Amino acid sequence: MSTQDIYSSFEFSLSSAPATGIDLEAERLVRKQETALGYRIMASWGWGADGSGHITARDPEDTDSFWSLRYGIPFGEATVQDLVRVSHGGNTVEGTGDINPAAFCIHAPIHANRSDVVGAIHTHTPYGTPFSALATPLPMNCQEAVAFHGTQGVFEGEEVNVTDLATGRRIADALGTSRLVILANHGLLTVGTSVASAVGFYLNAERAAEVAVKVPDGRVISPAAAAKTHPSVGDELNGWHIFQWLVRSRVGDPTVVN
Ligand SMILES: [Zn+2]
Repeated sequence: MSTQDIYSSFEFSLSSAPATGIDLEAERLVRKQETALGYRIMASWGWGADGSGHITARDPEDTDSFWSLRYGIPFGEATVQDLVRVSHGGNTVEGTGDINPAAFCIHAPIHANRSDVVGAIHTHTPYGTPFSALATPLPMNCQEAVAFHGTQGVFEGEEVNVTDLATGRRIADALGTSRLVILANHGLLTVGTSVASAVGFYLNAERAAEVAVKVPDGRVISPAAAAKTHPSVGDELNGWHIFQWLVRSRVGDPTVVN
């Protein structure tokens, strides 16, 4: 698949879906583009303006390694050339420079634990971080929250600055097989079968956290109602579609990351 064909996947259609059957180089490019675009989406709200936050993308060929942004690059300027590939063992295997040490300590154990996870994102957001101080799961308080029905964990550790792999492994354990882990007193972290869906679902989590913070005593929907709605809003393709919208509305031309 040509680069142009890959970009055409950003054209909106309710029936559109991620490209399949593409070769490893094309798949690697898609993952790197989504990573750089994800950083720019974060920057569009000022998230990560102080350097906090990271996105990682598993390499499609050397699956025990992942890509992330070189430390020091402003999120709003991220391009595919600014990405560095790091092994789960902590060695830089492609690209130059270092990634955020916390990105490695948190994300490496998650990628190692979860072969289904391609993308992961964590940052400190206006509502995600305040909500995390409750050290509880998201209540089922809105449509966006239901994406996490039965698929969220809470990391209750007091390590609010993750500087070692042992803590990262405990975070990976708290995530378990879920899509979201609330890092108590710290923020949110979401994962996906693509970088796009991880970022899309991060926006869902942030929205649900906003509702919880603004309306702490609001109604929550029943487990039965949440279970009924989860298959639609919780579908990986829904997270992917949210990302396509975010690219269009927050970044514009996706080729800026090339
Ligand atoms: Zn953090």
